[in-house]
Amino acid sequence: MELVGLPPEFLKSLEKAENDKFKVVLRSHHVSPILELCKVGSTRKSVAVAYGRRCEANLSVLEKLIQLRHKLARLLGYPNYAEYAIDRRMAKSSTKVFEFLEKLSGSLTESASKELSLLKELKRKEEGDPFGIEDLPYYVKKIKEHQFDLDFGVVKQYFPINLVLSGIFKICQDLFGLRFEEVVGSEVWHQDVQLFSVFDLSSGELMGYFYIDIYSREGKYDHTCVVALQNGSWINSTRQIPVALLISQLQKEVDGRPGLLRFSEVVNLLHEFGHVVHHICNRAPFARFSGLRLDPDFVEIPSLILENWCYESSSLKLISGFHEDITKPIDDEICKSLKRWRCSFSALKLKQEILYCLFDQIIHSTENVDMIGLFKHLHSKVMLGLPMLEGTNPASCFPRTAIGYEATCYSRIWSEVFAADIFAMKFHDDISNQNTGIHFRNKVLAPGGAKDPLEILSDFLGREPSIQAFVDSKAHSV
Ligand SMILES: [Zn+2]
Repeated sequence: MELVGLPPEFLKSLEKAENDKFKVVLRSHHVSPILELCKVGSTRKSVAVAYGRRCEANLSVLEKLIQLRHKLARLLGYPNYAEYAIDRRMAKSSTKVFEFLEKLSGSLTESASKELSLLKELKRKEEGDPFGIEDLPYYVKKIKEHQFDLDFGVVKQYFPINLVLSGIFKICQDLFGLRFEEVVGSEVWHQDVQLFSVFDLSSGELMGYFYIDIYSREGKYDHTCVVALQNGSWINSTRQIPVALLISQLQKEVDGRPGLLRFSEVVNLLHEFGHVVHHICNRAPFARFSGLRLDPDFVEIPSLILENWCYESSSLKLISGFHEDITKPIDDEICKSLKRWRCSFSALKLKQEILYCLFDQIIHSTENVDMIGLFKHLHSKVMLGLPMLEGTNPASCFPRTAIGYEATCYSRIWSEVFAADIFAMKFHDDISNQNTGIHFRNKVLAPGGAKDPLEILSDFLGREPSIQAFVDSKAHSV
């Protein structure tokens, strides 16, 4: 009864405890489905509380880490760790990051408030007041399911892997003025691996090579990523050709038929392929600045721009075809729904991400912060008065700020915001315009790490990048 709403296959996957109750482990593959699907508010709340306090011992570790980081930054002449971490990135300073996050959060308030009042209203009808932050995933999912007649199981039928891949190749070749050619008979490490050469369409110059190793198999590295096998550079007037490798874990065949991709996998594949194109089109003279050795605030922007091609009818048709008759592309209604679904009820979730980014930025730019007090204060300030869930300790289980993204959690949103600006300004009205694509290739992809990213983007846009297009895209989130 406590798990009403969860699908039978999920329940079947759970172990049983001695008292015959289901055992839920505090990992996202158990917690997320419960928070999104469980109809029982008290279950969602107790799971959210347990999950939000799962690593309380980490808080003192984090406090120690922060102290040491500040100490190291001071040794290098910086006032605090955030200034050290951001100094050589596109954002330049912690002050700029605060300005960016505050401005973005403020601009999203109107859309987020509309979302919140609809969510509160629905909860009042279904379970009664009050609405808590732990109710967010369940009610967002419920409202979106009600608003959209989108069955992702059906959508998947339109994305056979080979067709998606050839569509992605076509989009990138046509847009950026490139030509890909398979190198047949090349020496590879597994029969599934393919090697392609990349030529400039007009001059015929060999620009680079890429391998694709996209099917899952036993013992293979299990992440999806692009690896730079060789960076481009000039050595005594001879060009060293860049070589990239795209690794993924897709199902090659299911029951003797070509594998089908989930829509999120299609978006992800195009995103990763964007990194391959970026790697090969980067013409920086030194290997240190070419390939994907770029400012981390900048490196994701081109791939995030390309993701938009998955949400426009004309390009979506190039990468889709019904699996039993690939001449039948995905229909216009589904394309439109996917585009609206992408932005629907996204403002409040974004504010939640901004809250974590602000927390990360404050603890890395101030000494001796009361972390629990700070999180409580920020939560209600950023999340439109919604309090932090009582009994949780989110500061202690926020891995991005502990290792890997310390003082730079903002970077993901930063890249999304400026990618939205470029897409809206340059590509939105004509996504297959090769002149714009080649201009982008020359102005944005080619300079690589040899030019300041802000200059690169300003040069291409004809003005400084702005947050407006991103904010506008969330204006109709309800
Ligand atoms: Zn990426």
